[in-house]
Amino acid sequence: MLEGPDPGPHNDVVPGDDRLLMCAPRFYGVEYVINPWMEGNVGRTDAALAARQWDGLRDALGARAQIELAEAVVGLPDMPFTANAGLVREEVFVPARFRFPERQPEAPHFTDWFRRRRYRVVELPGQATFEGEGDALFHPGEPLVWGGYGVRTSLQAHRHLGDILDVEVVPLRLVDERFYHLDTCFVPLHDGRVVYYPDAFDRESVERITARVPAAKRFEVDATDALSFTCNAVVVGGAFVTNFASDALRERLTAWGYDVVVCPLDQFIRAGGAAKCLVLQLDHPGALRAPGAPRVPSRVRERQVELQGDLLDTDMMNRALDCITDAGGSFEIEAFHPGLRHDQASVARVRVVAPSPQRLEEILARLLETGARVAEDERDARLEPVSQTGVAPPDFYSTTIFPTEVRIGGRWLRATRQRMDAVLVIDGAGETAVACRLIRDLRVGDRVVCGVDGVRTYPTHLPRSGEGFGFMTADASSERRVELAVDRIAWEMRRLRERRGKIVVVASPVTIHTGGGPHLARLVRHGYVQALLGGNGLAVHDIEQALFGTSLGVDMKRGINVQGGHRNHLRAINLMRACGGIAPAVERGLLRGGIMYECVRNGVPFALAGSIRDDGPLPETQMDLLAAQAEYARLIDGADMILMLSSMLHSIGVGNMTPAGVRLICVDISPAVVTKLADRGSVESTAIVTDVGLFLTLLDARLADER
Ligand code: NAD
Repeated sequence: MLEGPDPGPHNDVVPGDDRLLMCAPRFYGVEYVINPWMEGNVGRTDAALAARQWDGLRDALGARAQIELAEAVVGLPDMPFTANAGLVREEVFVPARFRFPERQPEAPHFTDWFRRRRYRVVELPGQATFEGEGDALFHPGEPLVWGGYGVRTSLQAHRHLGDILDVEVVPLRLVDERFYHLDTCFVPLHDGRVVYYPDAFDRESVERITARVPAAKRFEVDATDALSFTCNAVVVGGAFVTNFASDALRERLTAWGYDVVVCPLDQFIRAGGAAKCLVLQLDHPGALRAPGAPRVPSRVRERQVELQGDLLDTDMMNRALDCITDAGGSFEIEAFHPGLRHDQASVARVRVVAPSPQRLEEILARLLETGARVAEDERDARLEPVSQTGVAPPDFYSTTIFPTEVRIGGRWLRATRQRMDAVLVIDGAGETAVACRLIRDLRVGDRVVCGVDGVRTYPTHLPRSGEGFGFMTADASSERRVELAVDRIAWEMRRLRERRGKIVVVASPVTIHTGGGPHLARLVRHGYVQALLGGNGLAVHDIEQALFGTSLGVDMKRGINVQGGHRNHLRAINLMRACGGIAPAVERGLLRGGIMYECVRNGVPFALAGSIRDDGPLPETQMDLLAAQAEYARLIDGADMILMLSSMLHSIGVGNMTPAGVRLICVDISPAVVTKLADRGSVESTAIVTDVGLFLTLLDARLADER
């Protein structure tokens, strides 16, 4: 093991055949900030010390390899980081395409250097960014490149590199900006070994590493090593040349037969680089595919999608692009035509690239949910048969709330019973109809749409202002804003009643506790509710109030606890059970007011879904949850408007069953609950963050004005 530039006992090491390209730091300094290491370091490097540190590295490497030099260029302070010049194999040089304009002018200088030495310069096609060996590390002795992407280099670059160099490229996604190049957190060693920092990668990439490299051949460095640029090491002539190495790493490397040579490089770390960044390897022995060995095709896949709509105003573009990168893919925007007038849609054509075919399917499925279309040739949907009752084929397409069409036999068919979290199945005989069906309802032989081909959705158009998902949050003017929202809702409800539309109310016991019960009961009586959905609690508290004037023992008129009142809700349940249900209790004249009473009197159907919290339950409470879900779905069918009143559980359940196009009004005191519903992202939703008792009082008053 060696310390510092002095090769010590290994002085007799003679330079091997390896050739390394370096560039003296004549004009080096931190002059801009393009990575987190540079922050706070502009103008704070010591040129003389940097030069001494670089000399030390050159000497240590020069003892083991031949060093070639590129000329430093004034105004290009990062040129000493030659690893980013490009990638070399045999006589081919693939120049970098830097992400940041600050480094782009380096590329022609390096390209010149290689041209002058008669290398064949092969530019990457397209627009993909590529930062050379910094993100493309040959595994010593193998025709295999580990390809970093996600921060600087794009995934497309690796797809092209594989083709140009005839090597297998294993894409590894970097997820921590501090480890912005692969060579800052990953070192391939001989004999298939690697040293790396797992936290710099996403889970799938770590799995890719562990799948290829057995545990005995991996060394995972800790944060101290990683943040000291330990992995930014040059492996040459049996040495591991680095800025720092912990005792644990030294021990392992020594056991693996390496000399650990430490060259302090803190002046370069200020710019985000150390030993490896300062070196480009010019030779990669063994990197050629053996004659007769099969070519390993790249697993990177790409497809073109088209996005159309209010891409900028509605944030649809950002969401679509985030959806690609969050899922480990990358993209190239190939065309963008903005709508020039307010009422014109924008159109974008985006190439989506994913590290594997499966990942591409997943990304495309998510993009379809946002309304993207796969732009290439139209294909029929792929249908797979169900082989086990209640179980879908593995890569089933899962539905959204948006209208969906499926291409079967060259024809686009509109799916019926649209809802989210279902699958698309051929409905009935022939191939003329498609329906959304829950997985649990699948039968053996049903044919299910799989993958994303031949599926398109029509997300609801999101308007620019006014009508969008409105948040009436609890700010200073909230009361006035709630009043305005209620005015509008009352107007819509009157119009719906006039044209015999369908309004469904989902409500919780909070409606009763906050004094909203009598108001909701009046809405039912006056024909503003065509179906009521809730749980045992809603009915129990409503009936308790109708019978005893209390809700959970609290006197609703005076707001005080009633002596022994806590028994009232059990007495209410007991009475209903004695009568055989709510409807018989109404008929016998025992129950004479309240929401449930009005439902029975006015023939408004209701569904009470059971839960683990339920007391009783009431005879009408459906404790079989599958049956309760089916009953909810039946009552929602054909709804024009759904009023969701302070019931997280039931409102979210209903939201999942409801197709786009139904007007949703969600009232809850908690912004988190309405946000959850807003995630549906459809235009027809209005969220009102307020007390539900206040809301119902205002709404009832507004509707009463008209009466
Ligand atoms: P939930 O937690 O799903 O929903 C209550 C919602 O009310 C929450 O989102 C909360 O933010 C909101 N809220 C609280 N105060 C509010 C206010 N002043 N104004 C507006 N919103 C307000 O609970 P849930 O729907 O009440 O009940 C869940 C389950 O428990 C249901 O199935 C219900 O029937 C059952 N339950 C049974 C009984 C019983 O049997 N005695 C009693 C209560 C609840």
